[in-house]
Amino acid sequence: MTQEEWTAVDRYFTDLLVPPDPSLDAALQTSAAAGLPSHNVSPNQGKLLLLLAQIQGARTILEIGTLGGYSTIWLARALPSDGRLITLEANPKHAEVAHANIAHAGLSDIVDLRLGQALSTLPQIAAEGHTFDLIFIDADKPNNPDYLMWALKLSRRGSLIIADNVVRGGAVVDAANGDPSVQGVRRFNELLASEPRVSATAIQTVGSKGYDGFAIAIVTSDQ
Ligand code: SAM
Repeated sequence: MTQEEWTAVDRYFTDLLVPPDPSLDAALQTSAAAGLPSHNVSPNQGKLLLLLAQIQGARTILEIGTLGGYSTIWLARALPSDGRLITLEANPKHAEVAHANIAHAGLSDIVDLRLGQALSTLPQIAAEGHTFDLIFIDADKPNNPDYLMWALKLSRRGSLIIADNVVRGGAVVDAANGDPSVQGVRRFNELLASEPRVSATAIQTVGSKGYDGFAIAIVTSDQ
């Protein structure tokens, strides 16, 4: 299979199952116009996040890695009107674009965007006493092992932890790969495997975003 074929099949399912949406489409357009990298999840993957949050019955969501707010909007739409999504972003320009996109989607009352390095904002969030029904990890991959530890601190039994980009074009199987993102994801996967408080799996994905994958874990014990 080629990238062209993956993209065509992705488009086929997007056209069938993910109808055009003014707020989501605008979020992608304004992000591109502002020069943000196109590291957002694809429409099909955004819909998957929405469905997982709905299946979970999530009322509180934490996202690590906002970019222009595309996945934020998908996830926030799964929440009830009194739900809460906290999303963490280190880059002020990304945060500014995301703020506008979240407002345009009518989600400002639900979404709380915290600007700063996630490893600095996570302790504040813990100090505020938050716990989350779903945590989506999608920021700098070298810090994934730390993000998993924070996700566990901020979870309860039954919380869902999802991490994007855990396959990295297949490079994840190469122990000698010198890319810090590959090494971060490998350590994250190994931690997931050895962590007695979670039950986890990982799914490879292909599509318009190339070849990668999601790890999904449920917290199985009280924290
Ligand atoms: N979740 C977004 C989506 O699907 O629409 C994509 C997020 S993008 C892959 C990763 C984002 O994480 C970037 O906007 C980047 O600036 C941010 N980021 C990278 N390192 C970070 C850190 N240490 N703390 C907080 N955000 C960080």
